[in-house]
Amino acid sequence: MDKIRVGILGATGMVGQHFIQFLQGHPWFEITALAASDRSGGKRYGEVCRWVISSEVPASVRDMVVQPCEPGLDCDLVFSSLPSDVAGPVEEAFAAAGYWVSSNASAHRMEADVPLLIPEVNPDHIGILAHQRRQRGWQRGFIVTNPNCTTVGLTMALKPLADAFGIRQVSVVTMQALSGAGYPGVPSLDILDNVIPYISGEEDKVEAEPRKLLGTLEGEALRMAEFAVSAQCNRVAVRDGHLEAVSVSFRGPAVTVEQVVEAMSSFRALPQELNLPGAPAQPLIVRSEHYRPQPRFDRDAGRGMSVVVGRVRPCSIFDCKFVVLSHNTIRGAAGAAVLNAELLKVKGYLE
Ligand code: NAP
Repeated sequence: MDKIRVGILGATGMVGQHFIQFLQGHPWFEITALAASDRSGGKRYGEVCRWVISSEVPASVRDMVVQPCEPGLDCDLVFSSLPSDVAGPVEEAFAAAGYWVSSNASAHRMEADVPLLIPEVNPDHIGILAHQRRQRGWQRGFIVTNPNCTTVGLTMALKPLADAFGIRQVSVVTMQALSGAGYPGVPSLDILDNVIPYISGEEDKVEAEPRKLLGTLEGEALRMAEFAVSAQCNRVAVRDGHLEAVSVSFRGPAVTVEQVVEAMSSFRALPQELNLPGAPAQPLIVRSEHYRPQPRFDRDAGRGMSVVVGRVRPCSIFDCKFVVLSHNTIRGAAGAAVLNAELLKVKGYLE
C-alpha cells in the first residue's frame, strides 16, 4: 500500500517533535514535509530544531528543509501544531487548497461545522464534514480538531460514566505539566518551588470542550451535552503528564464505586475494535493503589495513549471522585491528532 504523504505545521515545536516521533514506522503515514516560522524556514530540520525528546532526531527528517506554512507543501494530510493565533487562517488556507487538516490548535475547535474529535468518544461526529465542505465550498479539504490536552483525559474518563449513568455536574482541579506550555515555556524562576494557579484560557476550554465531545450529532447540527463543568487549572513543576482531580455527580439513582470502576475498566471503543495503529489496547486503565496514578510512572501507559485513573472513591458533595492522568503531548496532542487521522482513513475520508 502507498503511504499517505504527511506534512507537519509547527514541526519544530514541542508538539511537532512528538508528531515526528509518533509517526516513526507508521504503517499508513509517511512524513514528506515539515513547516514552521520564518525563524526556521529554509534551514535543515536537524540544525534548526531544538530537539527535546529523549531519543535522537530521526534520520528520516534530519536533513529535510523546513518550509513556510503555506499551501504548496508536498503532502496530502497536514498535522497542525501551530500556536492558536496563527493556526486559524493557515489551516483554512490548507483546507481550501484541498489538504486534509488534523489540528491540535484551539482556533477551530468550537466552530459548529468542525468536528472536535476523540475516536473513543464521538467518532460519529466526523459526519459533519460533508456539511463543513458544502458550507465552506471546499471540494476535497477539511479541518478536524482534537481537544485541549486537559480535556482529553477528563472526557475519556467521563465517557463510560455518561453512557452508563448520565452526568449532571463535574468539578475538576488540574495539575498541568510544563511541556503543555510549549518550548521554552514557563521560566524556571516562576515554577521551581512553586505552583502557578492560572493558565490563560485553559479553564474556559475545559469547561466547554467536554460538552461538545459528549454532545450528539442531530442531522447536521451538534447539540452540546447538558451538564456543567467547573475547572480550576494549575501549572506544576512536572515535565510531562497532566493530573486532574475530578468530582462527578450523576443523573440517575445512586451509583456505587464498584460500578464506576467496572464501567471505566471495561471501556473499549471503536479504535480498539478497528485495531487502529495508534490506539491503545486499553483506553482507560484503573489503578487500585492509593498512590497512583503519578506522572512519572503512568504517563507512558499504552505508548502515552492510555488514560490512567485512580483513587476512585465516594464524594461527600458530589457522587464520586477520582484522579485522572494523561500524557499531554501524546494523548493530549500529537497522538490524538494521528488517531483522528487513522479513524478518517478507515472511514474513507482520506481518498
Ligand atoms: P511550541 O513549542 O511553542 O511550538 C510552536 C511551533 O509553531 C514551532 O514549530 C514554531 O516554529 C511554529 N510557529 C510559531 N509561530 C509561527 C508562525 N507565525 N508561523 C508559522 N509557524 C509558527 O508550541 P507547542 O507546545 O508545540 O504547541 C503547539 C500548538 O499545539 C498550540 O496551539 C498549543 O496550544 C497546542 N497544544 C499543545 C499541547 C502541549 O501539551 N504542548 C497540547 C495540546 C495542544 P519556530 O520554531 O520556527 O518558531
